[in-house]
Amino acid sequence: MAGIFYDLGSYGHEQVSFFHDRETGLKAIIGIHSTVLGPSLGGCRMWRYNDEQEALRDVLRLSRGMTYKASLAGLNLGGGKAVIIGDSHSEKSEAMLKAFGRAVDALGGRYITAEDVGMSVGDIDVIRTVTNFAVGGSNEGGSGDPSVMTAFGVFQGMKAALKFAGMGESLEGLRVAIQGVGHVGYHLASYLSAAGAHLIVTDIYPDQVEKVVQEFGAEVVSPDQIFGIDCDIFAPCALGAILNSRTIPQLKCKIVAGSANNQLETEKDGFDLHNRGIIYAPDYAINSGGLINVAAELDGYNHNNVLAKVTRVYNTILDVLNQSKREDVPPHEAADALAQQRLMEAKNLGKRHSKARFRSEFLSKFQAMGEFELSAASSN
Ligand code: NAD
Repeated sequence: MAGIFYDLGSYGHEQVSFFHDRETGLKAIIGIHSTVLGPSLGGCRMWRYNDEQEALRDVLRLSRGMTYKASLAGLNLGGGKAVIIGDSHSEKSEAMLKAFGRAVDALGGRYITAEDVGMSVGDIDVIRTVTNFAVGGSNEGGSGDPSVMTAFGVFQGMKAALKFAGMGESLEGLRVAIQGVGHVGYHLASYLSAAGAHLIVTDIYPDQVEKVVQEFGAEVVSPDQIFGIDCDIFAPCALGAILNSRTIPQLKCKIVAGSANNQLETEKDGFDLHNRGIIYAPDYAINSGGLINVAAELDGYNHNNVLAKVTRVYNTILDVLNQSKREDVPPHEAADALAQQRLMEAKNLGKRHSKARFRSEFLSKFQAMGEFELSAASSN
């Protein structure tokens, strides 16, 4: 049965809020999937969705993914995410970002926002003028653009997948196909190029492609060709649902390891990859570097600590792949099981009490950070 309440029920969310601001045209949905481990944190995506149902599904899937991502990364944070319906190139305005900031603020710290596709550090700076529940800005103590650390984590995860595949750990001379060379894809290309990999890239924006061709000597293919490229690693760094019944049969890679969220269109696609013998580094396990980076703001940002934590994405991916082999299940199922295990432990051990304590400590920390305009978001 299709419909909004069917979708809401199927992902197990604590809260989903819709915000509309007539003056600025803001149409936003904020999904809080879980606060079992702490306040929910996750980026805001601005995208031209075909319809509202598509936007809702995206925020539901993305926010659930954040719960699992934080859990697997060992962070005391819950899962949340926001989407703004619209074209980030032509429809975004300062007034709209402020209206979104007021929507975030109205949730009183149950959701903390950050960058995602279609949003920048500058946008977070604007949002922070109306709420302190935003991280990843350029303010003092702000962690800035998370994509460098996301890319660094993906690079670590790729090495772990290579090791698991019995291919050593070196990227030297390997062929890596990158779909999407935006924020993360660009930095990933930089790490891979420095490690001696041969890059094959694609993007729907020619300027992005030109940059990686000039800087890293990448080979360019069209967006349709990237799936069928003969390569060692395919790195999806664009949007979700690109591993599906149409693309999986085309793949000629040994490993799929990239930053995009929700890469599997359906659960079955995870089994299909596994049955084809392609090693899949589950998206939320390998792309946690950005979350680790922004979350570090809450404890006082320290770059060396962040680097050390993000380097451990290597161990996380190896753990997931080894568990997958041991249990004879696809890696996406192994990752889910490991993430759920920590959530269950938190519930069973009465961690809700420490969660409440963490939340109140967290709120007082934020409130102590300064006065900010408090205005209720319109939700008509
Ligand atoms: P971005 O918008 O900067 O880059 C995405 C790129 O993909 C853009 O250049 C876009 O033109 C391109 N693209 C879109 N559709 C495409 C297609 N069909 N074929 C080829 N290219 C296409 O976004 P980003 O911040 O680099 O994030 C990339 C992915 O990684 C997203 O799925 C995001 O949710 C995920 N992610 C990002 C971070 C982060 O730190 N930025 C963290 C975790 C996960």
